[in-house]
Amino acid sequence: MTDLSATAGVTDRSSGTGQSGDRGATDHIQEFLRQQDPETPCLVMDLASVRHRYRQLRAALPDIRICYAVKANPTPEVVRELVALGSSFDVASPGEIDLCLAEGAAPESISYGNTIKKGRDIARAYRQGVRLFATDSPADLANIAENAPGSRVFCRILVDNKGSRTPFGRKFGCQPRTAVALLLRARELGLDAYGVSFHIGSQQLDPGAWEHGIRAAREVFDACAQHGLQLQMVNLGGGLPAHYTQPVPPLADYVRAIETSLDRHFGEQRPQLLIEPGRFIVGDAGVLRSEVVLVADACDGENRWVYLDIGRYGGLAETEGEAITYRLRTSRDGDPCGPVVLAGPTCDGDDVLYQRTKYALPLTLRSGDWVDLLSAGAYTASYSSVGFNGFPPMRTYCIDGDQE
Ligand SMILES: *Cc1c(COP(=O)(O)O)cnc(C)c1O
Repeated sequence: MTDLSATAGVTDRSSGTGQSGDRGATDHIQEFLRQQDPETPCLVMDLASVRHRYRQLRAALPDIRICYAVKANPTPEVVRELVALGSSFDVASPGEIDLCLAEGAAPESISYGNTIKKGRDIARAYRQGVRLFATDSPADLANIAENAPGSRVFCRILVDNKGSRTPFGRKFGCQPRTAVALLLRARELGLDAYGVSFHIGSQQLDPGAWEHGIRAAREVFDACAQHGLQLQMVNLGGGLPAHYTQPVPPLADYVRAIETSLDRHFGEQRPQLLIEPGRFIVGDAGVLRSEVVLVADACDGENRWVYLDIGRYGGLAETEGEAITYRLRTSRDGDPCGPVVLAGPTCDGDDVLYQRTKYALPLTLRSGDWVDLLSAGAYTASYSSVGFNGFPPMRTYCIDGDQE
């Protein structure tokens, strides 16, 4: 695991994803926090950073349709910003569809990417104008045919998630040969059998990870073609990283690897392409401010425990298994540091953020000081519980660093 003992996790050691706006975004957020001094915990998003990220990806992959994965950060202002930029949206539920439509998204820009959905939710989406659905099972496909007749469907295939800090396990996706059968069946059911999707796992640190997904997609295309079914679309899913304690390769490395795989497997006959970034768009655009509730020295006989007012249930769900290790900044940076165990405020024994991962924080840190979690714009507010243990859900503020 990453050793941050010398730095309190503040130092920017990696090249990041080559996004020059990151520092600036954090400065604007810092200024907002200094001036407003909001109740903690809270998340502050810089819409300028979201915009820069979208444009960076747009420029790097000009022919690929970008569907922002709304679950990464469903703040209305973020969705509205992306609508204005021309983004499409990957959604998972009626609530996310309503959100996108309310913020001005066209129904044609919405992809219902969840393979697990109720028939009546499909019908509702169809009534709202959504015509693009993911599937990976016969039962879901039958539901789509019944409730969204004639719609486009793409089949999610199960791919290796090696290299991902937060893999999907085996919950989604089917074997390529099952995908072929499902897509042929979709055609029989009067649906538009449109293509294939995969997700190589979130926070994917290996730019080469898309290779086997793209290869498998090509195999499904070929097998369907043998039955006279010409698929049209490959959905490359999410997986592009944000900037936590581990260094991440620059975006250019991902783009090069994806382009190479597309050339290798599809050559001149490139299909229509979609990508569903979540973390990459919003992760580095947010800072989560928390307050130190308590510091307890060696009360367990060995460790210094620092308890924050944010934890596993307040939005830091991705610290489970210590998968995502946020960079930290404190109000006492510069003072000598020592090792800590970091924990949340609830009465749940699992509400511990980092004990295996070595974090060091200033020895002077005490109750009332603040601790910022950097690059915390993805999968935080959206995971904040509605009130576990009586703690209210975390608030999100949006600023626009370009307008100040
Ligand atoms: C969550 C999700 C994404 C976004 O993944 P990131 O790794 O955050 O980019 C994309 N597609 C689907 C289907 C998802 O469920």
